Amino acid sequence: MQIGIPRETLPGETRVAATPETVKKLIKAGHAIHVERGAGTAARFPDADYEQAGATLTDAAQALGCALVLKVRRPTPAELPNVRQGSVLVGMLDPFDADGLRTLAEAGLTAFALEAAPRTTRAQSLDVLSSQANLAGYKAVLLAAHYYGRIFPMLMTAAGTLKAARVVVLGAGVAGLQAIATARRLGAVVEASDVRPAAREQVESLGGKFIDVPFETDEEREIAQGTGGYARPMPAAWMARQAQLVAERCKQADIVITTALIPGRPAPTLIQPETVAAMKPGSVLVDLAVERGGNCPLSVAGEVTEHQGVTLVGLTNLPALLPTDASALYARNVLDFLKLIIDGEGNLTLPADDDIIKACLVCKDGQVLRSA
Ligand code: NAD
Repeated sequence: MQIGIPRETLPGETRVAATPETVKKLIKAGHAIHVERGAGTAARFPDADYEQAGATLTDAAQALGCALVLKVRRPTPAELPNVRQGSVLVGMLDPFDADGLRTLAEAGLTAFALEAAPRTTRAQSLDVLSSQANLAGYKAVLLAAHYYGRIFPMLMTAAGTLKAARVVVLGAGVAGLQAIATARRLGAVVEASDVRPAAREQVESLGGKFIDVPFETDEEREIAQGTGGYARPMPAAWMARQAQLVAERCKQADIVITTALIPGRPAPTLIQPETVAAMKPGSVLVDLAVERGGNCPLSVAGEVTEHQGVTLVGLTNLPALLPTDASALYARNVLDFLKLIIDGEGNLTLPADDDIIKACLVCKDGQVLRSA
């Protein structure tokens, strides 16, 4: 199959959908790979390495015009005219954005949104949400450390003792757990909260303390279990008790990292402006949910701001700040997904009973197949 790897053109998008390592494997499987010149430059994969792996270097139109196009992000309006009707697109296509999916269906693409894969053992190796959130959780801690005017570990020196930083992590999914692990490695004292009861054990196994918001009704307990591993919106009474407890913990904290998300919905508000106002001057809040409205209404997407002495880090797309590793993991996720949709002869195959394919296939024959 002719496979195209275009350069990503969204501002700040430094990742690339295939690396020389995955290109080599695709070529070994009998495919012809067309990499747009400079596609891997921002991720530190030079054109020469793709050529050495056996790819042909080409321009944007040719890479986008291949029968199978591998992307990181959904094609922009400027890119879409170069994508051929009937071709196959694999990428992070934002499956909850109905308008965006319609543009892909209207372009006549068979499109697979990798974020829509189920959270099952079989899908683990192609789980782009996990591979990218893991890196985002790590980078969130390093950003917090960068903007914090003190150090994380306790330090006893001849000039006096420095106290360990207190870190609060809200949302202990993939990103949150990596943030806890990273902050612990730097020597911080860590507390974390999540609505899912299963998170307690994971937080504690990383050396964090779980901020417990006890359930008071069967309804609260039932909703907190979530669906398919994901959280559901909690009842207002539980959210109010959580907010009170979180506010108390945040007042004592030096760093707060929020990662709470509910698929297909705006991020839940976990930190009220009054809580930020009560935080210590010099403390730092990193809001990883900012692209979905934020866990704190004061965070501004794409910006680092200050509110009453508290630094609010609203930078978006943190995996793109680690482009080499983010691309390496993403490209392996893509490669594993391709094994499901390409048969031994190198042709596209769409087994109707495959739950991963069914979940990821968002557009086919001019139709959007997913109700966002
Ligand atoms: P996510 O990014 O959708 O959300 C991040 C976290 O925010 C979740 O842990 C969620 O419970 C939490 N959250 C939502 N509302 C909250 C609130 N009001 N207060 C506090 N926390 C709140 O989730 P994710 O990181 O993608 O992971 C979701 C789950 O899926 C986790 O249990 C993870 O371990 C699991 N998972 C399973 C697999 C697999 O089995 N293949 C792969 C990856 C993740």
